[in-house]
Amino acid sequence: MIRNRRTKLIATLGPASQDDATVVALARAGADVFRINMSHSSHEVLRARVAQIRTLEKTVGHPIGILADLQGPKLRVGKFANGPVMLENGARFLLDSDEAPGDQRRVRLPHPEILGSVGVGHRLLLDDGKVLLRVTAVGPGYCETVVEVGGALSDRKGVSLPDTVIPVGALTEKDRADLDAAIAAGVDWIALSFVQRPEDVAEVRKVARGRALVMAKIEKPQAIERLEEILEISDALMVARGDLGVEMPLEVVPGLQKRITRLARRYGKPVVVATQMLESMIQSPAPTRAEVSDVATAVFEGADAVMLSAESASGKFPLEAVSTMSRIAEQVERDGNYKVVIDGQRTDPEPTGADAIAAAARTVAETLDLKAIVAWTASGATALRIARERPYTPIIMLTTSERTARRMKLVWGINPIVGTDPTHTADMVRLGTRAARDAGLAEPGQRIIMVAGVPFGTPGATNMLRIAFVGSDG
Ligand code: PGA
Ligand code: MN
Repeated sequence: MIRNRRTKLIATLGPASQDDATVVALARAGADVFRINMSHSSHEVLRARVAQIRTLEKTVGHPIGILADLQGPKLRVGKFANGPVMLENGARFLLDSDEAPGDQRRVRLPHPEILGSVGVGHRLLLDDGKVLLRVTAVGPGYCETVVEVGGALSDRKGVSLPDTVIPVGALTEKDRADLDAAIAAGVDWIALSFVQRPEDVAEVRKVARGRALVMAKIEKPQAIERLEEILEISDALMVARGDLGVEMPLEVVPGLQKRITRLARRYGKPVVVATQMLESMIQSPAPTRAEVSDVATAVFEGADAVMLSAESASGKFPLEAVSTMSRIAEQVERDGNYKVVIDGQRTDPEPTGADAIAAAARTVAETLDLKAIVAWTASGATALRIARERPYTPIIMLTTSERTARRMKLVWGINPIVGTDPTHTADMVRLGTRAARDAGLAEPGQRIIMVAGVPFGTPGATNMLRIAFVGSDG
């Protein structure tokens, strides 16, 4: 099945999208990848979800990607003795390792390594940035702060430390257990939250050992500082605007979104734009104009995928959210300016055979108005390089690997189909043209272009381009 858009759609599953009928409906309405948020899912739920999606994939009739999103080191304060406290501007407030419940003057921060690494002058943002504390003194097991922006603080609220590099890996014990469970369940992608350093991603890779691809969520200023190094070691990036907008001033997020999207495009690695894209649709069947414009901005920029969080996981209108997002992407891609904007951000091919062939495939296809680019790939690498070119011509990716097909569902423009490898060139022409015809992209007498590595089945050997007529027979 070929969608009428190149931009992919990730829908987070949750209580609002539990039953089989809803999951199938979401996939049909446009979800290419489902996200399972490990902050809210037990291992039983994870396993049941993966099994459910794999079963329903057969009903839907095309590969579906699964992304497991690890919570990462989300820091939280301890509990209070008598309910929420009100922190007044200018007041002193202490964070310490004392297990006693907190009060007006202090609360526990149950992360000793954090207390040891904050410095005087650092900021602590509490409860999604609603309360701002600045560190005035640090000592063994405590840090003293002054309240710069006051407000209410209650049990287990989140703490962000935009100025502090946290001296632990990005994987908590919960993350390690969740990662093992997600790999065992057979998910296609692992996302890691609150990445600070390339080493954080390396830690996940070491566990995953190629069994799942790894996406780094960019939501901390420390990650922005080392963006390119993090991208180099990751298979994909997510612009995680929720926490990014807490850890950094909100008004810098749009610029960062552009920068991250463009850098990922230059590397030919998928990039996802996430959070609050259609936020009002949690409550309402129609989005705001500003939200439509926000989705459109990500699509115009050439993001690989746009993501729904609570809209599809716990909102009142999961199906409407998916179909609305899908329609916005389709319409933007038909806009007269779309190709101009996309082409404007294209960067030169790297000096490799795969890139030279990918670039040639695009120019030949566009020059001759060919109906499809059909690419054979074992690992997906060739398809990624073609997608990097952002061709206007639809891309069909043929692979023998179900796993590769599911992984590539995240990638701009790629329509993965699982099939058999051709045995010789004539067979390749037959299978390639038939795939384009069956997908409804080309009619008998029209032409397509095929990209392959010969001999078949040898990864990394893209070496062949072939123009072929679509026949009217088998
Ligand atoms: P989250 O990540 O939904 O797991 O917090 C996305 C974000 O922070 O934007
Ligand atoms: Mn986040």
